[in-house]
Amino acid sequence: LSSCRTLWELVARRADLTPDRPVLLQDDRSLSFGELRARAERVAAGLYDRGVRPGTVVAWQLPTRIETVLLSLALARLGAVQSPVIPFYRDREVGFALRESKAEFFAVPGEWRGFDHTAMARRLEASGIFEAYDGAELPDGDPAVLPAPPADGTSVRWIYWTSGTTSDPKGVLHTDRSLIAGGSCLAHALRLTQDDVGSIAFPYAHIGGPDYLVMLLLYGFPALMFEHFALPAALEGYRRHGVTVAGGSTAFYSMFLAEQRKQPGSPVVPTLRLLAGGGAPKPPELYHSVVREMGVRLTHGYGMTEVPMITMGAPDDSAENLATTEGRPPEGMEIRIVDGEVRLKGEAVCQGYLDPAQSAAAFDADGFFVTGDLGHLTEDGHLVLTGRLKDVIIRKGENISAKEIEDLLHRHPAVGDVAVIGLPDAVRGERVCAVVEPVTEQPPGVGELTLSAVTAYLRAEGLSVHKLPEQLEVVDALPRNETLRKVLKYKLRERYS
Ligand code: ATP
Ligand code: MG
Repeated sequence: LSSCRTLWELVARRADLTPDRPVLLQDDRSLSFGELRARAERVAAGLYDRGVRPGTVVAWQLPTRIETVLLSLALARLGAVQSPVIPFYRDREVGFALRESKAEFFAVPGEWRGFDHTAMARRLEASGIFEAYDGAELPDGDPAVLPAPPADGTSVRWIYWTSGTTSDPKGVLHTDRSLIAGGSCLAHALRLTQDDVGSIAFPYAHIGGPDYLVMLLLYGFPALMFEHFALPAALEGYRRHGVTVAGGSTAFYSMFLAEQRKQPGSPVVPTLRLLAGGGAPKPPELYHSVVREMGVRLTHGYGMTEVPMITMGAPDDSAENLATTEGRPPEGMEIRIVDGEVRLKGEAVCQGYLDPAQSAAAFDADGFFVTGDLGHLTEDGHLVLTGRLKDVIIRKGENISAKEIEDLLHRHPAVGDVAVIGLPDAVRGERVCAVVEPVTEQPPGVGELTLSAVTAYLRAEGLSVHKLPEQLEVVDALPRNETLRKVLKYKLRERYS
């Protein structure tokens, strides 16, 4: 099935193979592969009646529900261009996405979590607003009206938005083929089978959404979805559905571990065998604690909106590799390190950005995508990430890696989380600033977090003097994005510059 040209072809072929097997589970609802195809086709017909055609740009800002998957697949069936927007975003980000993508339609959830999305859409003068839930039903129509599904998988049909960690979000162009390639690499790396039960703990509007769906379609197993993901409440669902593989990012492993610590010795989810995630740095200590205390395997991978699946740890790899590397690239993904920077080529790589100038800068002369991430390959081909190019602080002409200092500070008992940034400095070019979120309960015997205490600690840990922070900021909470809870360093730079 991984050779299917389009997402819709994959849906149709899976529905022919195992029509009655479940694919999506949510609360007390379950949808089979056969129903997925049949219902998405009706939604496609409803959208067609409203004027959506192949190539029409449709933005949607919908929560993680079965209906959202149906709407997204309906757009894929029509060959429309869809632009998913994270449901937590408000006027500024949504307005930006609608303008940049030139969306002709905008699907909103009406009132959701105390916020009126329809009113926002009107404020933004979005065109073709339709409420997909709460306010109204999903569009519905007779599939007989539909034109043939798209045949080519290499046209741009997806516009995803980067997290905006380093600058304004960028509109990333994907094709059905690039998403299928990403999803099939992921499925293969995780060694899943049709007897697995997955779970989707991140917003479906994230690029991980269709990536995950591709995996379900290829292997024919179901996943549990959450509109409001929170532990421990989600655990009841995991147990009831017998989840075997749970996905999420680094913050998610920590939450799981905290639950496990409430009942040491007896597994929180007896069927769970694998935690799989990625997208953010993972401290090696966290890896070891999860494996030891939860008795599950943990694999972590490297991905980005532009290339959702780059490398992934194999569940049967050594503990050393799983703890300290991001795993190996799948077949078909070529990695090159140029001046310490990771570059990539492969079918899962995006077509570029909405902005042609950004696209031109994104590929090198050999057609490799330039990631902006720093890393190296080990002798046996595992990727180690060492930071981001934009996170390198240049103080008096010396390059300082923010990550090196962050890794050391993570081990300090009073530090809950930390971000190290470079701030403009008239004399030295940049100066090093550490922004610390303390642990909620300060362990006894640990002194106050002051600049002199922190630098003394770092010196004792062996950090060279020219890398020591010259400024310390202690904050209640670091600014984070809503998708993967990643720290937004550009906001810190703005605040402290
Ligand atoms: P923007 O491009 O708008 O500044 P962003 O790069 O954070 O935002 P995403 O596409 O969501 O937006 O994130 C991709 C980035 O996340 C990667 O380029 C990399 O820096 C980081 N990342 C992904 N996986 C890992 C990982 N396993 N370990 C460390 N960092 C990771
Ligand atoms: Mg990026």
